[in-house]
Amino acid sequence: MQIPKSHPRYHSLMIREKLVSAFRKGIVVPEGLIAHGRGECFDYILGESSRDFALEAEKTAVAMLMLAKNPVISVNGNAVALASEEIARLAKAIGTPVEVNIFHRDERRVEIISKEMERFGIPVYSRGDAELEGLESARRIVDRRGILKADVVLVPLEDGDRCEILKRHGKKVISIDLNPLSRTSRMADVSIIDNITRAIPNMLKFAEDLKKANKDELKEIVEMYDNRRILRNAILAIKEYLEKRAGELHD
Ligand code: ATP
Repeated sequence: MQIPKSHPRYHSLMIREKLVSAFRKGIVVPEGLIAHGRGECFDYILGESSRDFALEAEKTAVAMLMLAKNPVISVNGNAVALASEEIARLAKAIGTPVEVNIFHRDERRVEIISKEMERFGIPVYSRGDAELEGLESARRIVDRRGILKADVVLVPLEDGDRCEILKRHGKKVISIDLNPLSRTSRMADVSIIDNITRAIPNMLKFAEDLKKANKDELKEIVEMYDNRRILRNAILAIKEYLEKRAGELHD
């Protein structure tokens, strides 16, 4: 579909087009389109920009990934549809492998998603040769070299169950989820309340800024971070945004 650049919701409509095209390629499942709708709604009432609390979480996430022994970026269909190239650049910048981990697992889709990421010349794990105990969905199927042994996992667009299991297996979880009320956001160690299309490019900039930072400086960023404060600020930001909009309608 041709979308005129002058359309007031051009950017949002372009993102939808990306998802629909990824759906046609077999990268995204119909359920992923619904999940995106929930995200869009939260983005709307957050003002569709990266707020202070998101930037702080993004910077901390980068520091945490840089400090990790075995970091990994877990990707699903929606994440790849919306930010494949940026994810690959981030993976290269901080030396992190990418693992394909999807809720609606089917080997063909895993292969399509892997190929989509491999185009950028990064290692992509998708063997599915290990299981995370305690989880029923297919997301329990992981790669021995990646999520199974990881100490820090970046999980964009996650569902709460898996986040809980990753934590139970002793991993630090960094989520990207526009909904500050979701179980994922409430359970993650670092909750990035931002659109993945902005979050990953922001993280790339932080990776560049922190390239020369030493371990102590990175540790300090992580130690100063308080995720409950970040979640509280995100919820308050929604409240303030709605109050402002309502205020504009006064007689
Ligand atoms: P939970 O199980 O954590 O309570 P959920 O049931 O909403 O959450 P899913 O249905 O898997 O989980 O939805 C994935 C989440 O991804 C949603 O909460 C949605 O806000 C978020 N999301 C969707 N699109 C984007 C996007 N582009 N950027 C960031 N987050 C997004």
